[in-house]
Amino acid sequence: MASGKEHDTSTRWWAAPFALTIALVIDLESGLISGTAFFIGGLWLSPDLDTKSIPLKRWGILQGLWWPYRKAISHRSILSHSPVIGTFLRVAYLLAITTVILLLLHSLGFTDTKQTIRWLSELIKHNPKQSLMVLVGLEASAWLHLMKDGDPLPKRWWK
Ligand SMILES: [Zn+2]
Repeated sequence: MASGKEHDTSTRWWAAPFALTIALVIDLESGLISGTAFFIGGLWLSPDLDTKSIPLKRWGILQGLWWPYRKAISHRSILSHSPVIGTFLRVAYLLAITTVILLLLHSLGFTDTKQTIRWLSELIKHNPKQSLMVLVGLEASAWLHLMKDGDPLPKRWWK
């Protein structure tokens, strides 16, 4: 299992080669989007958000947003440290908690919040390729994390 600093170093090291590979295979825009998502995924949306970690600290005053996630998911479980499932749950959790906060702000009189939710869903709906590239970058950074931890499919899941 790699340390937090080793995860950070490998994320910074692999973001550009990953972006370049996607740019060469697909196109420049996809490379830039997925490379940025890879970087953000490794440093802010890491599988280690399930514990007190460097990525969690990066959220600063917002790290409390991840408290329910941390309490619900044990460290290095299949729900955080697995291909696809881990990224899906982190993105879904972030979207859900953002929606709840925006709805709470709306109920307090901030009228633009429902518009923000609508704008975000329209943005995703009208940019499917770019949205997919974001998911590809996030998932690739999770795979790097899992490989550095030495367990894309830990044996203990199968016991
Ligand atoms: Zn980990």
